[in-house]
Amino acid sequence: MDKRYAQVVVDVPTKQTNRPYTYEIPAELKDDVQAGMRVLVAFGHRSVLGYVVRVDVDRPADIEADQMKDILTVLDSKPVLSAELLELASEMAQKNFSFWVAFLALMLPAALKASYRKKLTAKPTLSDEDRVTYLEGQQERLVKTKDFSAKEWRAVLKLRQEGKLLVENQIEDKVRVKTELAYKVPADEAVLAEAAEKLGKGAKVQQTILAFAKEHLSQTFSKRDWVAQVDVSAAALNTAVEKGILEKTAVEVKRRPDVAGDGSIDTVKVLNDEQQAAYESITAAIEDNQDKTFLLEGITGSGKTEVYLQAAQSAINQGKQVLFLVPEIALTPQMQKRVEDRFGDKTALLHSGLSAGERYDEWRRIKEGKVQVVIGARSAVFAPLKNLGLIIVDEEHESSYSQSENPHYSAKEVALWRSRYHQAPVVLGSATPSLESRARAQKGVYDLLTLSKRANPTAKLPEVDIVDMRIAIQDRGDTNFSTEMLDKLKAHLKRGEQAVLMLNRRGFSSFVMCRDCGFVPRDPNCNLAMTLHMDTRTLKCHYCDYQTAIPRICPSCGSNRIRYYGTGTEKVEEELKELLPDYPVIRLDQDTTRKKGAMAKALRAFGKKEAQILLGTQMVAKGLDFPDVTLVGVLNADTGLGLPDFRASEKTFQLLTQVAGRAGRAAQQGEVVIQTFNPDHYALTFAKHHDYEGFYRQEMSIRHAAEFPPYYYAIQIQCAHPDENAVALQTAKIAAWLRKQLPEDVLVLGPSPKAIAKLKGKYYFQMLLKMKNENEADAVLTDLVQRSQNAEKDLQLEVRRNPVSFM
Ligand code: ADP
Ligand code: ZN
Repeated sequence: MDKRYAQVVVDVPTKQTNRPYTYEIPAELKDDVQAGMRVLVAFGHRSVLGYVVRVDVDRPADIEADQMKDILTVLDSKPVLSAELLELASEMAQKNFSFWVAFLALMLPAALKASYRKKLTAKPTLSDEDRVTYLEGQQERLVKTKDFSAKEWRAVLKLRQEGKLLVENQIEDKVRVKTELAYKVPADEAVLAEAAEKLGKGAKVQQTILAFAKEHLSQTFSKRDWVAQVDVSAAALNTAVEKGILEKTAVEVKRRPDVAGDGSIDTVKVLNDEQQAAYESITAAIEDNQDKTFLLEGITGSGKTEVYLQAAQSAINQGKQVLFLVPEIALTPQMQKRVEDRFGDKTALLHSGLSAGERYDEWRRIKEGKVQVVIGARSAVFAPLKNLGLIIVDEEHESSYSQSENPHYSAKEVALWRSRYHQAPVVLGSATPSLESRARAQKGVYDLLTLSKRANPTAKLPEVDIVDMRIAIQDRGDTNFSTEMLDKLKAHLKRGEQAVLMLNRRGFSSFVMCRDCGFVPRDPNCNLAMTLHMDTRTLKCHYCDYQTAIPRICPSCGSNRIRYYGTGTEKVEEELKELLPDYPVIRLDQDTTRKKGAMAKALRAFGKKEAQILLGTQMVAKGLDFPDVTLVGVLNADTGLGLPDFRASEKTFQLLTQVAGRAGRAAQQGEVVIQTFNPDHYALTFAKHHDYEGFYRQEMSIRHAAEFPPYYYAIQIQCAHPDENAVALQTAKIAAWLRKQLPEDVLVLGPSPKAIAKLKGKYYFQMLLKMKNENEADAVLTDLVQRSQNAEKDLQLEVRRNPVSFM
């Protein structure tokens, strides 16, 4: 018989092993190995986990047949990764200068990455000798894949093939499949007839069970279903077992995450003209299997979600599936509930707040084709849907769609890839699209769909007031609350309405700002806010490494009140308690929401008006829809502007627009108060006038002048090393090498220490590449990544395409 071979990507993430290896499929496994399964293979002296990416490949020409290594065992009975996902992993790894195996692992729930065990059970034909060798003399044995050598595994598989041994997969206990008590009806009617004869006429309840059983031969129902459908007690069911009418058994229950509800049900709305036009364009693309990308630009409250939901319904009506992505922090229970109200238990939910068991169960429901809609955050983009008809990316401008840890990827890129693969449209939705997406719509690469008014005709966009904090702190000293803010708060609270207060705390960036004129020192090359470094007592630009001493006197107005800027939610809460002692506050930040379900609980309490004030970080800006919120206060609009990031203005504009959109979503007119030391900054004034298009034009011209995206493509190279001098030296060398290797029109900025220059014992430096053509630097960078592994083992180098974080 011809030998068969398979290509396997091994779980050894190094550059050298970032390619498939060919293994022989031993005769014992000939029917068991398929692409997309996990296997155990010998690698060097170890046995390691691997993913089969292709079967029936040729033996490599440079290896003799008798030198080929075997696949030791198969860990799955069905492929866990589809052909689509295998291909996607390979392309994403290449595109993002990452490891193939890292993407393969990313696509699977953590439960499948847990250590794996097999249950061996002796069959009667197993010899005593083999029983001693492989089962420690027992009838059954649980073995870890690593308990046996390659040779032993081969022997075990041979015994299995000979029918002497049963080999089953078992997942680690903590995420074991969950079951509940169930009762099964026998398959044979004669069995029931026999039981019936023995029943007395008076056994009414048993007769009822019997009648139901006759109609449902060989079917199994959980105890709960029996109780609900036949209206019998658990005791009666157990009697039925004794009488031979039913058999006791167990059925699997899939753990489902809770849905937070306030009792109301979200219903289908009649679309307005703009919504209808958007809906029809999307639906036509679904019907015609077109991989179009739509940019749905709609002001807050314009009914984008309603368009998503109805478009999703139309995909489902056509027998197709829907992938609905939302940013992690915006994955509010509210959005989850709206989706579940529409699509019920045909929905699966994937996000980082789930337990390993919940995630595993949701993943399997998707894999088994039991769901039609998957709603989830970033990594849900890899959900194993087979028949995608529509992909929705809500709040598409959110940077949380990019993963900055390894493997680096953008869920939007993956969504577009899957859209092409499935010939299905993508809808990118936002009130404040990213400049990149909006520019592509301008060029006709994306189809622009616009919603220009609020869906609820009585809800108007809120009035926005900008308060100059330079004046406020002259009046009231160092405070988080201007007089205007306090007065408005009191007025709204007195009327029984609710207020959302946001303290912007993005990252840990610290910068200096003049308390008298709002001046923030910027570097002359990049026009970026410079970051404070207390160790060296300098201000630095984190793109080009320009540095200067910390000013003692404001270069703009001469004041000596120029200093570090930043505060925390806890401090603000304290101040609120003093200023408004009669009004309890619900605080929402990383500390108060760390516990599972805490965010949902806090929001539910706010929804029930247990408190009138919700105070939080950026978390409160996204997606919340509370009708009684009529006042939104932004305590510090400036922190975002001080970020060492070319998107600082864009992010600030987006955040202010989002948070302002939380006000006045129902009948009462909403109001927004924004406190700032920079009242004339264009990001604020355009936000005040709800003018995205105006902001877009101005910001585009600034990006054009400074040669930043979307006019240029950016790639970030990050280097980390335990020794500060070494990383400085290495990155300087790398920069010099790059400048020599890269085409002349690729600009190399830096190297420079990162804004957070030291973290967990490592020093971080970065370089920024800018180029006109997207793939211009790919070959050189792939080469660089390869070399960096060979060069110095302490140096960690990462390459990130379209970086969104510069902290
Ligand atoms: P967005 O996602 O653009 O912020 P939503 O879809 O959340 O907007 O809609 C805002 C509010 O308007 C919601 O309460 C929603 O139920 C309501 N709504 C949406 N579309 C309509 C419509 N066509 N008619 C009436 N109300 C609508
Ligand atoms: Zn600079």
